[in-house]
Amino acid sequence: MEKTIEQIKEEAIKELEYASDPESIKAISVRYLGRKGAVTRYLRNVSNLPKEIRPKAGKKANETKKTLETLFKKTLKQLEAAADEADRRLDVSLPGRLVPQGSLHPITQITHQISNIFIRLGFDVAEGPEVETDYYNFEALNIPKNHPARDMQDTFYISKNIVLRTHTSPTQPRIMEKQKPPVRIISPGKVYRCDSDLTHTPMFHQVEGLLVDENVSFGDLKGILTTFVHQMFDPETSLRFRPSFFPFTEPSAEVDIRCVICKGDGCRVCSKTGWLEVLGSGMVHPAVFENVGYDTTRYSGFAFGMGVERIAMLKYGIDDIRKYFQNDLRFLRQF
Ligand SMILES: [Zn+2]
Repeated sequence: MEKTIEQIKEEAIKELEYASDPESIKAISVRYLGRKGAVTRYLRNVSNLPKEIRPKAGKKANETKKTLETLFKKTLKQLEAAADEADRRLDVSLPGRLVPQGSLHPITQITHQISNIFIRLGFDVAEGPEVETDYYNFEALNIPKNHPARDMQDTFYISKNIVLRTHTSPTQPRIMEKQKPPVRIISPGKVYRCDSDLTHTPMFHQVEGLLVDENVSFGDLKGILTTFVHQMFDPETSLRFRPSFFPFTEPSAEVDIRCVICKGDGCRVCSKTGWLEVLGSGMVHPAVFENVGYDTTRYSGFAFGMGVERIAMLKYGIDDIRKYFQNDLRFLRQF
């Protein structure tokens, strides 16, 4: 007895379920839909069927042909995709997955740049504690209790005599107590002040510098700081030394550089003055030497200090200091 079209269809579907690769699907397709395939043969025989059922059987056979064609195509596609995926999994020549790599924070980078310039000039790097005694943070630096200069520092007090250091300057007396001249150090690190706005954060970074020896003059200070500015910014940058006051230096000077944005014409960054303040400096006050037991008739020296964030802001043209500490990768990836 001839198979019905229903039976042919069922068999085809069953065979398809066991097919596990594109080649066998193609073979099944030929067996059913090829020129000598079961469905094709059935269709050819429709004309031999009794007249009454011929149209119905023909229609059904054609539908089955279409259904199987669609089904074969769909299954073939799925198997090919799975085979591709398997190939990909086994492809040992594919590059490995990248592990996200970090980079140094811009403040760390600038601190390294500053330090490297001074290291090449013969300075050593010295570090001090961030939680400091009132003595080293103030008194040893000629800032006695009730001195008005303390008002400028917005200090965080831990207790009556313990503070978060307001500057890196306490490293000066700490080093000088332990070491006889010559002293040539820089001291980078975190400092703290109770202050927060566009250009101030409660924690920021400074680099302190100190040079003590016989016959050290203000000319040496100018020479070292000019060399620093020319290496840090541009060899053509002009500087000016502007008289200022710090309790632990005398005479004292602020160091300004020609505005890196407008080159001196006056802009928003330099408040139309054409100059930018980058450092504080001066000759070490004799009172500081006396506190550490240095002979003030024999030794002289100079000290300077700068804010790392400020240097970085000027170098990169950043207008808001808080961006450094918001951990926004879109900002940090630019450095
Ligand atoms: Zn300017």
